[in-house]
Amino acid sequence: MKTKALVLLSGGLDSILTVGLLLKYGIEVEAINFVTSFCTCGKTNEGQQEIERITHRFGIQLKMIDIFEEIMEIVKHPKYGYGKGINPCIDCHALMLKKAKEYMLKTGASFIATGEVLGQRPMSQHLRAMNLIEKESGLEGLLLRPLSAKLLTPTIPEQNGWIDREKLFAISGRSRKPQIALAEQLNITEYPNPAGGCLLTDSKFTKKMRDLLAHTPDPSWNDVQLLKLGRYFRLSEGLKVIVARNDEENKRLVNLVEEKDTRLQVTNQKGPIAICRGEINREYLLKAASITARYSDDRGESGIVANSRFIGEELLFVQPMDDVEISTLMVHSSS
Ligand code: SF4
Repeated sequence: MKTKALVLLSGGLDSILTVGLLLKYGIEVEAINFVTSFCTCGKTNEGQQEIERITHRFGIQLKMIDIFEEIMEIVKHPKYGYGKGINPCIDCHALMLKKAKEYMLKTGASFIATGEVLGQRPMSQHLRAMNLIEKESGLEGLLLRPLSAKLLTPTIPEQNGWIDREKLFAISGRSRKPQIALAEQLNITEYPNPAGGCLLTDSKFTKKMRDLLAHTPDPSWNDVQLLKLGRYFRLSEGLKVIVARNDEENKRLVNLVEEKDTRLQVTNQKGPIAICRGEINREYLLKAASITARYSDDRGESGIVANSRFIGEELLFVQPMDDVEISTLMVHSSS
């Protein structure tokens, strides 16, 4: 019987190399991918499709695990703090590894492997953080990082001879050159550019996320999806407005409308759609309509159709809000 390992597959080159190496050394591999809802890898589910393509190419099984709820808890209360954004990377890595350990115990795998590289990321991939993450996850000795293994304490898989330490690597730092050379050796030709990432490290998203957490103690998945879109305004402690920037965002925003929301749409069909989420009164409704009108192609007064469970449907005529007032209400706009 082959020794089985679970590999945390993010879809990046390092985790792809880890799968390739273990397979080359005769280890049976199953991949785990964690769905966080904070990946910048695509607006739809392009990231997931890419992971499926990778596992298909290797001919290995894939387990997707959704950790949105758990990750939200650690975003709110990280034990080990944040990185440069609102990214609780140490807690997040430990969470993923704890989840992987639970799955390892269920499936009879013998150890976990990751594509982590010593010194590659400032918060979670220096020696102290890597040791801490391993300890927090309860995986001491059973976590192999093949790309940097020779720089780390030998693990149980190495000590037991499941894998030959001499065939592992001593890669460190941020350069990708050693990994690209290794990919050539392993005949791995398809891998993504390192452009993808995590929204929690993005300064613009962080601003919106902080605003969400300050006003919504238990944000839902839908609340977080709204942060990925449009122009984001805070009108009061209990009310925010999101205005789409283009046709594609109009469609995505419509799909996120909930029963409690008020939807605003400029009557000329090319104008933006907006969502008001929270407690709304007449004053705020007119303000939100005026913000929406500001982004209409119409000059001057705009007709805005407001629609919600509370007010039914109503046609409002408003002047666009001026830029000075807009700027005082805007939490962030990506445009
Ligand atoms: S970058 Fe994002 S997904 Fe990755 S460990 Fe940090 S918080 Fe988690």
